[in-house]
Amino acid sequence: PKPLATRVAFVTGAASGIGKAIAARLAAEGACVVVADLDLEKAQAAAAELGGPDVAVGLAANVADEAAVQDALADAVLAFGGVDIVVNNAGLSLSKSLFDTTEADWDLQHDVMAKGSFLVAKNAARILVDQKLGGDIVYISSKNSVFAGPNNIAYSATKADQAHQVRLLAAELGEHGIKVNGINPDGVVRGSGIFASGWGANRAKTYGIEEQDLGAFYAQRTLLKREVLPEHVANAVYALCTPDFSHTTGLHVPVDAGVAQA
Ligand code: NAD
Repeated sequence: PKPLATRVAFVTGAASGIGKAIAARLAAEGACVVVADLDLEKAQAAAAELGGPDVAVGLAANVADEAAVQDALADAVLAFGGVDIVVNNAGLSLSKSLFDTTEADWDLQHDVMAKGSFLVAKNAARILVDQKLGGDIVYISSKNSVFAGPNNIAYSATKADQAHQVRLLAAELGEHGIKVNGINPDGVVRGSGIFASGWGANRAKTYGIEEQDLGAFYAQRTLLKREVLPEHVANAVYALCTPDFSHTTGLHVPVDAGVAQA
């Protein structure tokens, strides 16, 4: 049997970008996958790419709305009998400087990423605890949770919030055999809806380069001189959910091809 053959994964923001790649990798390893995203049609289309309803279902769920999160998790249990792997991936980036960031910008970033990931983790953890089978919760945080950069104060603050949620949940859920880990990606330009929807243009302007050169620009700043793609983040999520990481919780794994510390 495939390594994740008995497991059900609930992946938020999985209709696009990194989340879509995570859903694909977990499905390829045998998991049944719930693609949860804002738009039902997009979620269903992404699920259909993974296989039939025995393999993947697409659900509409705004992670910032607790009732919607609870409905989606209940539908996941109805579809596949439980939930074992939860990936908090849904997100957006407004990429604004300190003085351009409005109260509404701050609230939106925090509603989706800080509050949204908390609501998903809390309601999913209830199911995991009751199942008594352990499980995995993985947050897709960001390098920006640790390192400061220009023009993303609200985004980075929510990513730091997510990083601390990982530590707090690891402490609270450990006794139930539930591991909680985070991934800190950086520079995933190709395949990312965030970059396509204006963030890329903004970043390129910040660095004084053309938008189409952004992937290569990020790559040459890394220690490994490699471009980070959505599947590299997905590989790390998969690894954390395997028995090879059975004794790892509260960890943040960088998937950024290496950041110079000097
Ligand atoms: P993306 O735009 O391709 O994917 C984000 C997905 O989240 C979209 O499908 C969107 O519809 C969904 N989403 C947004 N708000 C939602 C909500 N309220 N409820 C449910 N779904 C919602 O972007 P991506 O680059 O794949 O980003 C995925 C995650 O990775 C984000 O959390 C992002 O912050 C994080 N991340 C990305 C990078 C990068 O370089 N691209 C780096 C670090 C972290």
